Amino acid sequence: MHKEEEKLQNALTELWDIMESAELVLMNTYNTSINLQETPDFSAVIHSILRDSGVLERIEAEDLPESNIKDENPDGSEVEEADYNTDLELNADSASGHAPLNDSSDYEYAASCRNLADITWKVNECTLCGLCETRTHAVPGNGVMNPKVMVIGEAPGAQEDKTGEPFVGPAGKYLDTWMGALKLFRGRDLFIGNIIKCRPPGNRDPFPDETDACLPYLKRQIQIIKPRTILCVGRIAAQILTGDSAGIGRLRTSQYTYEGIPMIVTYHPSAVLRNPEEYRKPVWEDLQKLLKLIY
Ligand code: SF4
Repeated sequence: MHKEEEKLQNALTELWDIMESAELVLMNTYNTSINLQETPDFSAVIHSILRDSGVLERIEAEDLPESNIKDENPDGSEVEEADYNTDLELNADSASGHAPLNDSSDYEYAASCRNLADITWKVNECTLCGLCETRTHAVPGNGVMNPKVMVIGEAPGAQEDKTGEPFVGPAGKYLDTWMGALKLFRGRDLFIGNIIKCRPPGNRDPFPDETDACLPYLKRQIQIIKPRTILCVGRIAAQILTGDSAGIGRLRTSQYTYEGIPMIVTYHPSAVLRNPEEYRKPVWEDLQKLLKLIY
């Protein structure tokens, strides 16, 4: 990192901290909830600082970092290309053995959560679909309130199921590399989660009843954490959140909003690990679009 850029980054970090302190004071003293960082004037000022300092241009001129991280299944076999590139063919009927669960009670169940802790507790106890029978841990997702980016993937994998943490395997490490290239970090700028909170056995695609049952948790998380932007990674997450069954190669060329939040669609980090020559460049283009939405 250039010295001036590092100084700028440090100054911006201090600025975020001051803003967060001011928001807390407003909240505690006047019981007023204001997100100062999201005020249009503030975003415009930050954007112009980044543009005038050349940081935006430099990021745009760079390339997505290469990775020597390899993605693999729990048994050590390689992840199949078909996992990432084929169009969605959701089964019309559930194969999970659970009745369809998209009635209003499921939505009320999630909607009654008052905060993230409520959601985490309910997800960990959840038996709304058959995935509760095979999970080791549910993975509610984690991160900060009012994140600059909420990353949404499809479902936990083997390592996430083992730990209860989102995106901790090779794909998660690579995702961290992407975010780091944008100067975004877990614990400060991000909330990371999935549409489905429990791992489908063998990493199969989730069934429609599982998606229907679990989606209200994600919607409630979005309402509570109020992300500035959403980065939707992977074919299945993209098809579910856009409501469009087109392939991800086409979906990523459009911009969306989900629950009122601007959303960018891109390939899953696992797909890029499997095929960096094909996917690194388009992912980097997508991340630049995301960056412009943040500031
Ligand atoms: S996948 Fe979602 S709906 Fe199904 S049991 Fe887990 S938390 Fe509940």
